[in-house]
Amino acid sequence: MAKIPFTLPTVQNWSCHNCGGCCKQHAIYIRDEDKQRILSQQWENDEHLGSVVKGDSSKLFHVDGGIFSKSWTRLSNQADGSCIFLNEKGLCRIHAKFGEDAKPLACRIYPYAFHPAGKTMTVSLRFSCPSVAANLGKNVSESKKDIEELIRLTTPANFRDSPAPALKRGVAVDWADVLRVSELLEEAIGDDSVAFELSLARTLFWTGLLEQASYEKIKGPRVRELIELVAAASVEELPELPLQEEPSRISQTSFRLLAAQYSRKENFQQITMSYRWKLVKAALRFSAGKGETLPLHPDLKAVPFAAIDETFEPISTDDVELLQRLMWVKLKGMHFCGRPYYQTSVIEGYQALVLLVVSILYIARWIAVGHGRRRISRDDLILAITIADHHHGYSPSLGSASAKQRVRTLATKGDLEKLVTRYVVTEQRFAVED
Ligand code: SF4
Repeated sequence: MAKIPFTLPTVQNWSCHNCGGCCKQHAIYIRDEDKQRILSQQWENDEHLGSVVKGDSSKLFHVDGGIFSKSWTRLSNQADGSCIFLNEKGLCRIHAKFGEDAKPLACRIYPYAFHPAGKTMTVSLRFSCPSVAANLGKNVSESKKDIEELIRLTTPANFRDSPAPALKRGVAVDWADVLRVSELLEEAIGDDSVAFELSLARTLFWTGLLEQASYEKIKGPRVRELIELVAAASVEELPELPLQEEPSRISQTSFRLLAAQYSRKENFQQITMSYRWKLVKAALRFSAGKGETLPLHPDLKAVPFAAIDETFEPISTDDVELLQRLMWVKLKGMHFCGRPYYQTSVIEGYQALVLLVVSILYIARWIAVGHGRRRISRDDLILAITIADHHHGYSPSLGSASAKQRVRTLATKGDLEKLVTRYVVTEQRFAVED
């Protein structure tokens, strides 16, 4: 097979720091060939796993779904939720015994994600990995050879036939238009001459205009002209951040419910009645927004809802850079719309990406309040990113019709900008205002 061209998010560093996080918090879905290879490794004779599976290798696997839906095989888990192959030192038994290539493909790929982008493939990374979030390790360009091999293993020969995501619901455009929108968004959110929250407000403004346009008469090259025009106009139309206004009560409720979805730890191996009941109770609590939060993650404490919404110290330029990098990698890596993001359009996918950033800051405040602070530390922010990004594009609940409708409602009512103004509070905003 000829070499597959691909673009890399060169602002990103990553090396595995063996934290074992990915082996503790993700369901590892495997292909049949992964299963056959693991079976051939004869774990029933292994000193440790032999006593766990007791001669029955099928205990290494678990099948999800299957009665009314497609079934998926995943690796079984230990009692604490970690992968059955994770050893007491936090290392992979398959890797230790048979080498990296013997692991399931999903484990070899993580935290990378590869997506078609017209004539090339593009690379994104998952910020659920703490090393990605903290930008630790070598620059991704130094891992080009390894990435090339993973792309070769995972990319179908006909990847160029993948259709471009719709610009908005029902409006098909070319890949060139999609890539241009993404490029303009990357430029805007990386513009350090204005406060990050103003950049977000401007991009929401012009993508909102694109969404309102009727495309019956605007076709072909005129779509591109429109894109360029509205993006450029946003600077004049929105010279500064609008004054802080309260989002409507219904939007605040919608947002809290979304933040609750982002803040939970997936409990994929124990969907018990008591866990379901806890989810219902949490939904009711977040819906009301009164009293204390009900944490669904071990790193979060019960704190008063009101304390999260109090005035916080603004976040530093370094912390803004972290959020800009997250957005930039997802935009460059086509990790925000189309197939990698619940088949949403470019505009809806971008609105969901902005909501991810707002939700991260909400969760970071929650963590800070749990430590008695009204200042988000670097560690709070990194932890909030890893918790929230675990779900973005991967949790079925965020791809449901109701979750998509929630994003739509927040965006079309103009409350998304108000949430940005309330929770994305940077030092730069005040430096500019001074
Ligand atoms: S198979 Fe190995 S690398 Fe994959 S999740 Fe399990 S312990 Fe981690």
